[in-house]
Amino acid sequence: MSLSAPIQTRRPSSPGTPPFEAAFSAGMRDLDGTALRDMLRLAQVPGIVNFGGGLPAPELFPMQQIAQASTRALEKYGWRAVQYSTTEGFLPLREWLAEHTHLASPVTPDHIQIMTGGQQSLDLIAKILIDPGDTLLVETPTYMGAVQSFRPYRPNFAAVPTDEQGIDMDALAALLRDLAAQGRTPKFIYTIPNFQNPTGRTLSLERRQLLLDLTEQYGVLVVEDDPYGQLRFSGESLPSLAALMLERTGDDTDQSHVIYCSSFSKTLAPGLRDAWVQAAAPIIDRLVLAKQGADMCSPTLNQMIVTELLPLLPSQIARLRESYAGRAERMLRALGRELPSGVTYTVPQGGMFLWLTLPEAVDTAAMLPRAVENGVAYMIGACFHALGGGHHTMRLCYSNAGLEQIDQGVAALAQTIQTELER
Ligand code: PMP
Repeated sequence: MSLSAPIQTRRPSSPGTPPFEAAFSAGMRDLDGTALRDMLRLAQVPGIVNFGGGLPAPELFPMQQIAQASTRALEKYGWRAVQYSTTEGFLPLREWLAEHTHLASPVTPDHIQIMTGGQQSLDLIAKILIDPGDTLLVETPTYMGAVQSFRPYRPNFAAVPTDEQGIDMDALAALLRDLAAQGRTPKFIYTIPNFQNPTGRTLSLERRQLLLDLTEQYGVLVVEDDPYGQLRFSGESLPSLAALMLERTGDDTDQSHVIYCSSFSKTLAPGLRDAWVQAAAPIIDRLVLAKQGADMCSPTLNQMIVTELLPLLPSQIARLRESYAGRAERMLRALGRELPSGVTYTVPQGGMFLWLTLPEAVDTAAMLPRAVENGVAYMIGACFHALGGGHHTMRLCYSNAGLEQIDQGVAALAQTIQTELER
């Protein structure tokens, strides 16, 4: 038998290296989660105030209603609730999402794909779009989980600077111009326009329009990740990039270059793993194929439970907004009172996070063990930089701590920073 291409062999392992080291794909070899794993382990120390994890408040999960919805779903749908279901997702849920995702511009259920968490949306978007060597644009800083989903597909990242109003549009325009001069068109830009993870910042309306202008001009897809958009507690709600794009196309979803992702993780409960993507039909068709190869369908019962819970959503979201507003305000007051001068922080209008920038001399990774000794943990900023940098930054999550814990944690943090500055 003749072969037209040489047989691919594994890279031989060097002596002393366990054989599986050489077996990992190049994409996975590029991932290094050691720092994050160490940090999460540190944050597990009992008794400390943990501003590090990005967890919603568990006492606000609607436990009783979830139990009732689950019983109702099993009674209503019987064995269907635990059988395989369609890859696209439970139709009543897709119908509701088609109508409610962009209120002013409803889409059809054919433009909605249910996913097993927003994290799967990112992974499958990467799977259908990224070829090795493709250029991806990501915000600086950006959600580290997205970088983790994209990196195994071996893209080249280009980092887009941000300021108080989100992406710096002049910098983006210059970057796109430079890349075009090199003959490179980025495959997509990944952005979190509302209460960004990690900074808590929101992209202004004017910049949303500019982002659409630029990406249309250069033929770059937009991946809009919006798990926090419903959690606004101050300021005016802004239309999503996807909704603004639908206005431009006269509600023709198939002409939109925006892929919109959201999730029930932050509005109901993350363990339900229920999320969705709204996009042009050809993109949804590819996502369906990718999902068949990933998990066939999202858990049927969970989709039914979420559908039963939809009438509860408005009051649940109101509860979350009120509670997170109180926690954010408490944290901002404590930061204003306690932090040494030279430390700046963002003021979020919603969501779960804010972002601290310390004087350049402070390395927040090196400082973390000392903060933990003092009783507080945070997420080091360097984790959120796809191309390095941010050593003097950190993310604080206020949604998972009580008001007194917030005071106590910020006092411990301020004292740690003060000591660090005097070192
Ligand atoms: N995108 C962003 C910006 C996030 O912050 C998160 C979770 N922290 C996710 C996606 C994934 O969330 P989930 O899979 O629970 O929907």
